[in-house]
Amino acid sequence: APGDLVHNLVANTAYLRAQQIDRNELRKQRLSLTLPRAKKSSALRAAVGKKYESLCEQQPIGKKLFQTFLRGSSPQYVAAAEFLEELSALRFADNEIRQKAKQSILAKFFRPESKFFLSYLTGENAKMCKDLTEKNFDDEVMEQMRDATRDFLKGKPFLEYQKSPFFSRFLQWKEYEKQNITDKYFYEFRTLGRGGFGEVCAVQVKHTGQMYACKKLDKRRLKKKSGERLALVEKQILEKVSSLFIVNLAYAYASKTHLCLVMDLMTGGDLKFHIYELGVRGICLERVVYYTAQITTGILHLHSMDIVYRDMKPENVLLDGKGQCRLSDLGLAVELPRGKMICQKAGTTGYMAPEVLKQEYYRTSVDWWALGCSIYEMIAARLPFKDFREKVQNEEVTRRTLEDECKYDIKRFDVPTKDIISRFLKKRVQHRLGCRSNDDPRSHVFFKSINFHRLEAGLVDPPWVPKPNVVYAKDTDDFRDTSELKDIQLDAKDEKFFREFSTGAVSIRWQKEIIESGVFDELNDAELNAENCENTWK
Ligand code: ADP
Ligand code: MG
Ligand code: MG
Repeated sequence: APGDLVHNLVANTAYLRAQQIDRNELRKQRLSLTLPRAKKSSALRAAVGKKYESLCEQQPIGKKLFQTFLRGSSPQYVAAAEFLEELSALRFADNEIRQKAKQSILAKFFRPESKFFLSYLTGENAKMCKDLTEKNFDDEVMEQMRDATRDFLKGKPFLEYQKSPFFSRFLQWKEYEKQNITDKYFYEFRTLGRGGFGEVCAVQVKHTGQMYACKKLDKRRLKKKSGERLALVEKQILEKVSSLFIVNLAYAYASKTHLCLVMDLMTGGDLKFHIYELGVRGICLERVVYYTAQITTGILHLHSMDIVYRDMKPENVLLDGKGQCRLSDLGLAVELPRGKMICQKAGTTGYMAPEVLKQEYYRTSVDWWALGCSIYEMIAARLPFKDFREKVQNEEVTRRTLEDECKYDIKRFDVPTKDIISRFLKKRVQHRLGCRSNDDPRSHVFFKSINFHRLEAGLVDPPWVPKPNVVYAKDTDDFRDTSELKDIQLDAKDEKFFREFSTGAVSIRWQKEIIESGVFDELNDAELNAENCENTWK
């Protein structure tokens, strides 16, 4: 209908325009924003914990304030801060730059006459330092000196920091971080997709301009389909993982009607959309290799935490604005009990491994099977055991999966691609790629063009970049939902569960947002000015 068309156009325009934020305009709007006083200071101190790694390295605001503290202290502390910063800048540099940087690090930090000499080194490290030359100053030595520096910082400097005004400031930020999140915190834009329990729409944080995707799970639909535990597991796993190739969670909160997961906005659309909805069926091989490399890295990250994904399929892999992909939808993921297998049937028809279909015990093997199916689908625009939109009973797909050989159209699949797929589609787990010790899927020739070290640092340019003025999602009207839920009543037990879910901002992601949007600098400066007048600091 023409009305729908206009509606969709308006929704797209608002969504695209929001992504071009005017930083000055936002800055004006938030002039009245102030940091809260750290009221229950001692309770808050206890709550933030005493771990150096968390307070001074992992949390971006904590790290920034600790650095500022060090740089305003004794020359020894300044040198330590400077040394760590130069080392981290070097991590992904290529060889030539690295050699040059090493020379300058040697002269700056390891020569007693230098202002930045690392005078806190003791014992063997101090001795070693005297004999360091360009020749023997290798990566291992550098690593050892970095560890020695961190050990030094964890001692007296860390204790002093916790008594300094910089740490009080950190507590204020933590107080701010704990704020209650509601719908009012965001502007809402168009729907991007629909899932089993509700829709996913684009949102924007009002005072920072940061765009996110919000997955809204209908409370009553969750209850009706007993999906409450699943929602909590999804949230807890999302919160725990941190990989460039898995969507990050930024906020979890509850509105009157929905539980909301606010995550990285992936503006490039899901891979299913790219396979079927853009005219040409399938995705070109160069892109398939690149996406598969990122997916593999994401899956390995989950497996390293003993998490099985269980819902690997192109529909759940999303592209960001630059053309890099991430796994999303961890709604079926589970943490494996230590050393044990599980046997619950879970997954999507067409992607489930033989061991799942036979209801046998399994661990991470099922994800490699599903990845094999997904590579096949990206190329052939159908599944190995199910044609696109084929109306077929689940039992028949099961039978084919267990009994049939997968067929490859030789016009579409080259040798390495066919080889990696058939290794992922081994019906017996013992024979499958990724499931035996010492066979890392990343070493397969299919990936010969990929440098995984650089890929993991986000340094490999995507082969294809989404166009900034295109919305890679179906029209908004395709997401209408009509099912009836009037008979479902929510009780006190449900409300208790919803509170458990609603933990608000996720520390690291939130702190990044605050720094990147400029709010951190603005409020810190404003506070400093106010303090100079009132003299109330400390
Ligand atoms: P479900 O668990 O119900 O399958 P998903 O998490 O897969 O729900 O989300 C449904 C759809 O919404 C996805 O296939 C995708 O098209 C879209 N979507 C989900 N998360 C995002 C995101 N972070 N950015 C953009 N679109 C998203
Ligand atoms: Mg999904
Ligand atoms: Mg799901």
